[in-house]
Amino acid sequence: MSNLHDLVGVLRHNGITDPLVLSAFGTVDRKRFVPGDVREYAYDNSPLAIGFQQTISQPLMIAIMVELAGISRGMNVLEIGTGSGYQTAILAHLGAKVTSIERIPELALRARTCLEEYGKRVELLVGDGGEGYPPNAPYDAIIVSASCPELPPPLGEQLKEKKGKLVIPIEDAGAGEATLFVISREGSTYHYANHGPCRFVPLQGEYGKHEVQDE
Ligand code: SAM
Repeated sequence: MSNLHDLVGVLRHNGITDPLVLSAFGTVDRKRFVPGDVREYAYDNSPLAIGFQQTISQPLMIAIMVELAGISRGMNVLEIGTGSGYQTAILAHLGAKVTSIERIPELALRARTCLEEYGKRVELLVGDGGEGYPPNAPYDAIIVSASCPELPPPLGEQLKEKKGKLVIPIEDAGAGEATLFVISREGSTYHYANHGPCRFVPLQGEYGKHEVQDE
């Protein structure tokens, strides 16, 4: 694939219909968020290695999650797993106020540089995203970009009641695969809507894989 226009075409062809989402993917240049050794593949609809055993997500998967979360201007959004910062930029471009948490300081540092132009709309933090970030809660939407054994309780508690949407890949027991869920909340009751299979790197830390690997 050769350019941003082609990438948007692939998203449209695969069922992404929201014109604002398509426009965001046509504006935020993925090439700026990938390391030099994979830059020639920047407009491919595939995940790419960004170092530290992590990946920039597949564009289609990001578009699906952003559409499912119903992101719109002014929303208060929490993103877990900043990675390259590409999805963060898409969210900020859509006008959301984004709090994004990344566990690996080197990735967060690199993403911070790429995200400079979004200024006050992005608050980038280093830490265990499974804990969320209570000072900015409640969130209209929470997007988790790493697969979890189950919903980390702090994230559920920081989701806005009724209208809030939490998009999260939850691991299928022992299968190495995950299912994408949209979770909504009424008090302490959580409703799960199944949106089919997906693949993500695992969440690390207190609510994910406990043994943090050496990078
Ligand atoms: N959406 C990102 C992008 O566009 O580049 C890609 C995210 S990548 C698939 C998942 C990220 O989650 C990795 O950068 C990884 O370090 C991060 N991660 C894993 N466990 C985490 C945790 N407990 N807290 C914060 N980030 C975590």
